[in-house]
Amino acid sequence: MQLVWLKRDLRIQDHAALSEGCKAGKVLCFYVYEPSIIRSKEWDSSHGAFLNESLDSLEKDLQKTGIKLYRFVGEVVDVLNNLKRYVSIEAIHSHQETGNFLTFERDKNVKKWCKENGVKYRDYPQFGIIRGLKSRDGWASQWNKFMTLPPVSISGTVSSCKETISGEIKQFDFEPCSKPFRQKGGAIEARATLESFLQVRGRYYSKEMSSPLTAWEACSRLSPFFSFGVMSIREVWHAVLFQRSEGFSESGWKSSLAAFSSRLRWHCHFMQKLEDEPTIEFQNMNRKMDGLRENSFNSEFFEAWKRGETGYPMVDACMRSLHQTGWINFRMRAMLVSFASYHLWLHWREPALFLAKHFLDFEPGIHFSQFQMQSGTTGINAIRIYSPIKQVLDQDPHGEFIKKWVPELKAVPTDFIAEPQKMSKTLQRQVGCIIGKNYPAPIVDHATAYQEAKKRIFSWRSQKEVKEASKQVYLKHGSRKKREKGKK
Ligand SMILES: Cc1cc2nc3c(=O)[nH]c(=O)nc-3n(C[C@H](O)[C@H](O)[C@H](O)COP(=O)(O)OP(=O)(O)OC[C@H]3O[C@@H](n4cnc5c(N)ncnc54)[C@H](O)[C@@H]3O)c2cc1C
Repeated sequence: MQLVWLKRDLRIQDHAALSEGCKAGKVLCFYVYEPSIIRSKEWDSSHGAFLNESLDSLEKDLQKTGIKLYRFVGEVVDVLNNLKRYVSIEAIHSHQETGNFLTFERDKNVKKWCKENGVKYRDYPQFGIIRGLKSRDGWASQWNKFMTLPPVSISGTVSSCKETISGEIKQFDFEPCSKPFRQKGGAIEARATLESFLQVRGRYYSKEMSSPLTAWEACSRLSPFFSFGVMSIREVWHAVLFQRSEGFSESGWKSSLAAFSSRLRWHCHFMQKLEDEPTIEFQNMNRKMDGLRENSFNSEFFEAWKRGETGYPMVDACMRSLHQTGWINFRMRAMLVSFASYHLWLHWREPALFLAKHFLDFEPGIHFSQFQMQSGTTGINAIRIYSPIKQVLDQDPHGEFIKKWVPELKAVPTDFIAEPQKMSKTLQRQVGCIIGKNYPAPIVDHATAYQEAKKRIFSWRSQKEVKEASKQVYLKHGSRKKREKGKK
């Protein structure tokens, strides 16, 4: 029997493990709900709901090709030991997952189990990420090569195991989902999301991606489908290539499709960092940044940030909207992290776990790399300290987004929406928003915190050994895009 082990690749199209498994013989296709993952700090009930919807949809698609989808609960090695009692296992096919420590260890255990049980282990890349990469030079052209290959599909007659196996379940019962406005999982949703983006919503993507007011419509919001593998990046890449070749020259489309294509590459560029150095889930990418924030974690600040009660309307609106929707656009993610890292001087690890739980699209490789970049611990990226006040003026000048998610501020006049604490006491009473009672006063003073953070980070970064270590970080992880362009 050929086992096709599904992890974060819940689709039927462009699925190398599935098509190779089917080619090799009779398949048993299964998914395992793993308690160690479901109990982890990064997991949320919204992930569970999205997962089940995606599995249900995949089950229907597999049925159409004559394949039964099995679902089990347990740690994977225990499930394999159970399966071994029912079928003779020749090989396991799965995708190469660039996951976190938990999944990395679990994959190692599965490989070990295969070795001990005389079972072949076959894993296949699903993104443009290179396992065992020796050097970042030329990475982008290898990525292009992978993406340019045609998506794979199941061919020929398929034979599937259909017998009942002890321990198989219909569906895992997760806690009720805590996010009423989250995206729904499944292939139909994924396709509809892609189509609406490429036909209508994406036209002004490059102009409208930064404001949280417009980003929900203008960004693709394909990220949870990529993270759960409901849709392959290569398929989307091909769809965009087709659209670009069709000469989508109407105003807006050209620059938007170009910007979107770059981001599909960024997806893998960031994941490659975790693939190459799994410790960045826990440790600073530049180890000479150790000690910068580790000793000064203010739990009260952290709790206020988590609740969306910092007294900075844009920070609070983004956080509260995230609690309800599971998604926020890139710039606002960067601002949330910048505020935690610089204004509140919190080490990135705990905030990263918290946002991982709340991002429906949590992707460890992007997440931890971006967190380190935005909090200044890589040594190779420009320091960006976002002003939460300026972000209101730039991205939500009339306070529409803010008022939607922070109802206490509904009646605050536009002139004060970025800094409601500046309203006079009389005005506060008139609009029913007493600062310190109905809405918090700022937990830190922006100007003071900004200057202090700037001084600390730049003086740390200017140390000779930090600069030396940064050169090594660049060699290992830095984008060579500009250099490669310059060579042409
Ligand atoms: C602190 C922080 C944490 C993040 N954590 C995650 C995460 O866990 N999962 C995740 O998918 N993205 C993460 N991102 C990147 C980015 O914000 C999201 O990919 C994007 O907002 C998802 O929305 P979208 O699908 O509409 O993106 P679009 O703008 O439509 O982009 C299309 C795709 O390109 C990729 N992409 C876009 N922007 C980036 C980027 N800056 N870096 C890497 N890939 C990108 C994603 O796969 C995305 O789905 C994080 C960014 C920051 C600043």
